[in-house]
Amino acid sequence: MTTPMMQQYHLIKEKVPDAILFFRLGDFYEMFGEDAEVAAPILQIALTGRDAGEGKRIPMCGVPYHAVDNYLSKLVKSGHKVAICEQVEDAKASKGIVKRDIIRIVSPGTLTEAVAERSNHYLASIYFADHWGLAFLDLSTGEFTVFQTADVDVLLTEISRINPAELLLTPELIKRTKLWVGYYCTVRDRKTFDGNAIPEHFPGQESLFREFPAATRAATGLWTYLLETMPGVDPTHIVEIKTYRTERWMFLDQWTRRNLELTESLRGVGKKGTLLSVLDLTKTAFGGRLLRHWIDKPLLLQDEIEGRLDSIQELISDSFLRKDLLKLLSEVYDLERLMGKVSYGTANAKDLLSLTQTLALLPDLCSLLSSSRAETLKTKVPMLGGLETFVAKLKNAINPAPPISLRDGNIIKTGYSREVDQLREIASGGKEWLAQLENAERERTGIRSLKIGYNKIFGYYIEVTHANAHLIPKEYQRKQTLANAERFITPELKDYELKIVGAEEKLKDLEYELFLALREEVRLQTKRIIQVAQILAEIDVFVSLSEVAVRNHYVRPQIKNDGEILITEGRHPVVEEMLEQNLFVPNDTHLSESQHLALITGPNMAGKSTYMRQVALIVLMAHIGSFVPAKNAGISLVDRIFTRVGASDDLAAGQSTFMVEMQEVAHILKYASPKSLIILDEIGRGTATYDGLSIAWAVTEHLVKHPEFRPKTLFATHYHELTQLQDEFAGLFNLHVGVKERGEDIVFLHKILPGRADRSYGIQVARLAGLPPELLQRAKTLLLELESAEPAHAVPAPPAKVTQFSLFDEPQMHPLLQEIELLPLDDMTARQALQYLFDLQERI
Ligand code: ADP
Repeated sequence: MTTPMMQQYHLIKEKVPDAILFFRLGDFYEMFGEDAEVAAPILQIALTGRDAGEGKRIPMCGVPYHAVDNYLSKLVKSGHKVAICEQVEDAKASKGIVKRDIIRIVSPGTLTEAVAERSNHYLASIYFADHWGLAFLDLSTGEFTVFQTADVDVLLTEISRINPAELLLTPELIKRTKLWVGYYCTVRDRKTFDGNAIPEHFPGQESLFREFPAATRAATGLWTYLLETMPGVDPTHIVEIKTYRTERWMFLDQWTRRNLELTESLRGVGKKGTLLSVLDLTKTAFGGRLLRHWIDKPLLLQDEIEGRLDSIQELISDSFLRKDLLKLLSEVYDLERLMGKVSYGTANAKDLLSLTQTLALLPDLCSLLSSSRAETLKTKVPMLGGLETFVAKLKNAINPAPPISLRDGNIIKTGYSREVDQLREIASGGKEWLAQLENAERERTGIRSLKIGYNKIFGYYIEVTHANAHLIPKEYQRKQTLANAERFITPELKDYELKIVGAEEKLKDLEYELFLALREEVRLQTKRIIQVAQILAEIDVFVSLSEVAVRNHYVRPQIKNDGEILITEGRHPVVEEMLEQNLFVPNDTHLSESQHLALITGPNMAGKSTYMRQVALIVLMAHIGSFVPAKNAGISLVDRIFTRVGASDDLAAGQSTFMVEMQEVAHILKYASPKSLIILDEIGRGTATYDGLSIAWAVTEHLVKHPEFRPKTLFATHYHELTQLQDEFAGLFNLHVGVKERGEDIVFLHKILPGRADRSYGIQVARLAGLPPELLQRAKTLLLELESAEPAHAVPAPPAKVTQFSLFDEPQMHPLLQEIELLPLDDMTARQALQYLFDLQERI
């Protein structure tokens, strides 16, 4: 026979075979059996054992309940689901084993503990019916969004942008495995996506649901799954469903977001070296999250952009206001996540206190804004008022230094409830009385070591050592004998005990109830508080962007409609920060409808990539509504920015660099419009020279030869042959990066100049990179030979194919072998092959 508790455990565990069960026992969550064996090494905690009845022992490990967040997050992030089983009745009230049940199942998408503060954490759901429907929810903040599209590429781009922690799919969709590579997927049958749960919970949004039926099904699936994982919780902090249209925001594909290092750097995770890192001086976590959104979704509508620019300008011109706001915002807690906790019922007194302290700042904030000349920001003031009485009540109610536990009292401030005050007086008065009694008894009996103590079994007692046994008065009743002392009670002590203990217990219960009532009051204010949070987030982002603009000397971009991009002394916002002061060389840009493709030549390391990214980033920053790093900038709105930059790191996914490059080019040509901005950093590198050149050539022609399709393009290339195209197409013009020759060496000027570069300086760059002198000498000889074999004009005819190597790659294979490896044998006639052999022999 197993123990009754283990029987209860097994019954509950049966309900969640695929999750690790956290079984609450006292102050610990315990794991048993296989769960314990899986969890212990991940959590780095000791694996012990427990008697399971019938002399059997089962493996066990446990984590303290007050530190559960980090353990939970660790397990879930390592790919496990965790079911949390709590005591669901008061231990005092129960007879026998306390009732327990699962209150939450935590999966990667429904995790709210220890998730990154300054980015969102999404659970997403997808449904297909004519259109692709996408719904995504950040459970910790309550942000719930739906989106619908007919284009699977658009869907995938959106998924990659939001980067969900978990994807919920139907059984049909999960079969399309290629689409969801790299995401944690959960499958639910189609029924989960049916029903009226969504319209019922979000009344008043019917038109949205009619307009986006596929997205509504996705949202229904998500909602049903959510409720399934949180039995009994009503997520009231999720107050509305939002949607967005691609006409309002610029669509950035995953390559562009990555290549431009907007919120994540190419060299691994984290925000260092990203645009976000430069722009983010936000003080609040929700401000940080909002800024990230803004960067990921630049605006397309001029009015909205100008609105943001106006707010920033107002803050720039009032440095006192800016500084005051910065100070005030640094005291603001994460209201969105606090409201999340309120809604699940996990908010403790400290959380309500943080919430109160934050809301208590609002009157100051309002008066700061009202008395300023920041006209657009002022319009927010009315939305920040009206919570004063509510805040005053909370302030009067909650003890300023409350304990974590809600059951141990000390939560409610004196003066808030008469009943609490009375009970507290009795409880503490009683303690004083005990101290007096102890003193009085010591005097009366002459036993100086006499003590009054307390334990759970006997309650209060008087303790006297054996040595003093002869002094014990006869009215003392013996209760317990210890090794060197005896414990007694007296009727007087018993009476008091009843009164004190009763008052203490009552007090704890009453404080707990009052706290729950307060928490409920807060919950009823959810909509208002979330609205306040959104406004605070916006103000925080405006303050951050204005502070950055001042510190880094940015200017307000002039938003234009004439198709021109005109930047004077533009700078790369991230690179300029990494260089010492004033070392960054600013450059101008002028793209227009008539001169829309700039072909940029110049040696490696000259600054081509930096320049092109700088243009893309300045244009993007203008669309975010931010000031830009330049002396002057006139920016015509673009509909999209595309980039094809350097070698991608998709090699890990089994794709060759060349393949990835071609996919990116194909993607650009498919989606670019005459209003797009395209950055091409070398194309055609990963293949034989002629293939690469021909592709680059054809792509360039395609981008300039159609009068109705003239996307603004910056194209850096090593194929100098392409520069001739300037004579043929009026829309194309050449730029190059200036270098100075100094003896054998070259000096990079980082200056973009009109016209083509005359040489590549590859060998000089290789010298700078530290290639050995003998090797450089040999390269020089070879270069001379190759150049003399070339006809003076256009494309060199091959004595053999010359493969373009990356200068910094380690030579791994003899060039001839490499050449042979790349021979297109299938496409060669026997005669060509023989001729090739003859050529080869001559070259050995
Ligand atoms: P390329 O694309 O021509 O190979 P990069 O754009 O990668 O060259 O630039 C190489 C390095 O030169 C950068 O890492 C940066 O440190 C420096 N650099 C580039 N542009 C500038 C500039 N305008 N001012 C100062 N330094 C620059």
